[in-house]
Amino acid sequence: MSNALAGKVVFVTGASSGIGEATALALSAEGAQVAVGARRAGRLESLADRAPGEVLTLELDVTDQESVRAAVAETVERFGALDVLVNNAGVMLSGPIVGADTTEWTRMVETNLLGSMYTVHAALPHLLERKGTVLQISSTSGRIASANSGVYAATKFGITAFSEALRQEVTAQGVRVVVVEPGFVATELAGHITDPAMRTAAQQMAATMRTLQPEDIAAAVVYAVTQPEHVAVNELLIRPTDQT
Ligand code: NDP
Repeated sequence: MSNALAGKVVFVTGASSGIGEATALALSAEGAQVAVGARRAGRLESLADRAPGEVLTLELDVTDQESVRAAVAETVERFGALDVLVNNAGVMLSGPIVGADTTEWTRMVETNLLGSMYTVHAALPHLLERKGTVLQISSTSGRIASANSGVYAATKFGITAFSEALRQEVTAQGVRVVVVEPGFVATELAGHITDPAMRTAAQQMAATMRTLQPEDIAAAVVYAVTQPEHVAVNELLIRPTDQT
């Protein structure tokens, strides 16, 4: 356990699995007090048991503004401040545009885009007080759209646009905005795809490469949020070496 984040309070959304879970553990290992949010409360309790430092678990649905506001308020009440928001909660329901089940589009937009915007809105007053950091988990799909991931890519492009506007609004007040864009990471993400052909395609793609592990992205997050105050790491694109 190092002390690079001693005295810092971090809130990680979507911490019940994958990148969010690994990131919460890595930030805890750096000495941060960590609040973790997601819908699966049991998974968060298990994370809290394994974390080296103090962890506050918060049942959270980022699509519900009230839930987001309550989670941020509880974090600040418990730890006294908020220094870093890791905006990570997301879903990827891949499929072609033609004939799509548009309720899946709604879910992706409400979770990935609106949910992350609500979370920034709720956290920002506290981050401004502490000259804190907003770290957005986007994707390579936030830079390059591809067939069968149009809506997912639209949400991630949206995160990039929102983040750049936010950066311009708050950088003079010392708040840093970081966009992290992972390539293929081995997590539960693709397991939620409902289209069987798409789910199989994701599994086959994973089999062709040495995928990233959630810990690889957690290490990038730790790097970005432990820089000196005058250094703003605005964007990190991280692909598996084997991913074209
Ligand atoms: P996981 O499916 O393992 O994690 C997704 C997390 O988001 C879970 O903790 C889930 O928790 C949470 N979540 C989903 N919906 C909600 C909601 N409505 N409210 C609160 N939390 C929610 O996948 P990853 O770790 O891979 O995904 C994390 C992020 O990384 C996502 O934004 C994803 O788009 C991004 N990403 C992933 C890549 C990959 O290859 N895996 C590549 C690029 C980006 P719960 O279900 O308990 O609510």
